Amino acid sequence: MKDYIAEAERDLLHTYNRYQVVLDKGEGVHLYDIEGKQYLDFVSGIGVFALGYANKEYNDALKSQIDKVIHTSNYYYNVPAINAAKKLKAVSGMDRVFFTNSGAEAVEGALKAARKYAFLKDGKNDHEIIAMNHSFHGRTFGALSVTGNPHYREAFEPMIGNIKFADYNDFDSVMQQVTDKTCAIIMETVQGEGGIHPATEYFLKKVRALCDEKDILLILDEIQCGMGRTGYMYAWQKFGVKPDIMTTAKALGCGVPVGAFLMTEKAGQNSLVAGDHGTTYGGNPLACAAIDKVLDLFDTNHIIDNVREVSDYLEEKLEELKNRYDFIIDRRGSGLLQGLELDRPVGEIITKALDNGLILINAGTNVIRFIPPLVITKSDVDEMIKILEPCLS
Ligand SMILES: *Cc1c(COP(=O)(O)O)cnc(C)c1O
Repeated sequence: MKDYIAEAERDLLHTYNRYQVVLDKGEGVHLYDIEGKQYLDFVSGIGVFALGYANKEYNDALKSQIDKVIHTSNYYYNVPAINAAKKLKAVSGMDRVFFTNSGAEAVEGALKAARKYAFLKDGKNDHEIIAMNHSFHGRTFGALSVTGNPHYREAFEPMIGNIKFADYNDFDSVMQQVTDKTCAIIMETVQGEGGIHPATEYFLKKVRALCDEKDILLILDEIQCGMGRTGYMYAWQKFGVKPDIMTTAKALGCGVPVGAFLMTEKAGQNSLVAGDHGTTYGGNPLACAAIDKVLDLFDTNHIIDNVREVSDYLEEKLEELKNRYDFIIDRRGSGLLQGLELDRPVGEIITKALDNGLILINAGTNVIRFIPPLVITKSDVDEMIKILEPCLS
């Protein structure tokens, strides 16, 4: 592994401080490095591999699509995209779908749609978007512009204009930023990278009502917290607070790079039209065959039922840890997206866990994030705790 790591550090742009492991293959909830060592995976490629690794039905669906055609172009129709869009609409309750290659691109499309919606109303170019402090929406310029972490933005200013920031879960602070020019409010339904903070029902409902009153579009970023992660297909469904535009990615393709932004019929009919937006790869037949199969397997394998059952147990076990160690100051999260906040940086603990065969990741400096494949069992939770606890003590 040392030789590969040295080579990687010579050739790849150093934009990540990577863990010292070269992963080779996966099976269920386990990954293996190239020396054959097994790891229990509580990261799932950051919320991507929801179905676990080497799922035969999923792999077979991809293989058969590869043998047919991988890519055509969005200038032509293809059946996998039609099927994927139909199923995605059914599980989300949204009306219109645009497929992208990644989460950040889904956010870009959502922002463009919101600006176009406002432009069509008054023909002006001065519309404002309200985003949240401590949010994360991706690394491209639009997505970065609404990411409420100055550290990510600092070296790349100027961002796109007319973005204002409010405090998450603080409706008064949103009200302070609203003007006649506000065209959209964007937020994660559960803040992921910012430290695993779920939106409160009160906050979501107040923001929804404000948006209805002023014809502002509510954009919910469900890229990390969507796709069953919280025990609902999309996290907003728990409270029935439906967005006008929603972004989804990560687990949507379970490893094939794909994302989407979805709109209500009203937002869809009054924003982007032919020529306004496009992508070469977005929603190609291979990516859409993946989405199609993922959504089938969510249904037939009762993924959401499993999330609800196992996440209660995970919460219980994490609460026990919190009660045993006074340096753990909080446990929070929703479903299988959980965080333990410590009174100190968690990097060393995560490295130690990795040495002991457990893959974990941080969310910010002081939070250990638990974002496992959605197919984990209670005994996987027990195994995780068994490895993590000695690292903590
Ligand atoms: C990961 C993430 C993104 C960015 O997705 P990419 O596929 O990495 O571009 C955007 N929003 C949220 C909430 C995310 O967790």
